Amino acid sequence: MRIPRNFKLAAIEIKVEHKDSITIDSCKACGMTDYANQKILLSGIATQQVGEQTFIHELVHWILFMMGEHKLRNNEKFVDLFAHFLYQYEQTKEFSSDKKVREDAEHSPKQSKGRPKTLFLRSGERGRLSKIK
Ligand SMILES: [Zn+2]
Repeated sequence: MRIPRNFKLAAIEIKVEHKDSITIDSCKACGMTDYANQKILLSGIATQQVGEQTFIHELVHWILFMMGEHKLRNNEKFVDLFAHFLYQYEQTKEFSSDKKVREDAEHSPKQSKGRPKTLFLRSGERGRLSKIK
């Protein structure tokens, strides 16, 4: 998994910064969410896997913040479990080839005739929705 240097949530740009070390309340931490400065801070001493897991953990904090779920975003148990599931998804996902996905969609019996079919194209195809008649 690649950790981005920045991303957007609800049009807010959030930067990811790597620090030599991070201290919260006199304790060393692997990561930290800085809402006021729109940042995620990651400690440089973390291994790649710990850095990735920490990034996902801080991302979950940010998503809950943007949703206005302030009680949940401060629930470390919830945030950590959600982040673990999301990280496992990220690490284990597999894709069919693009051609196979297209063929499956075109031959799907659920598609009604007369209405345009809508396919989601992968990021290599600019990740846009495209109508196919
Ligand atoms: Zn946390």
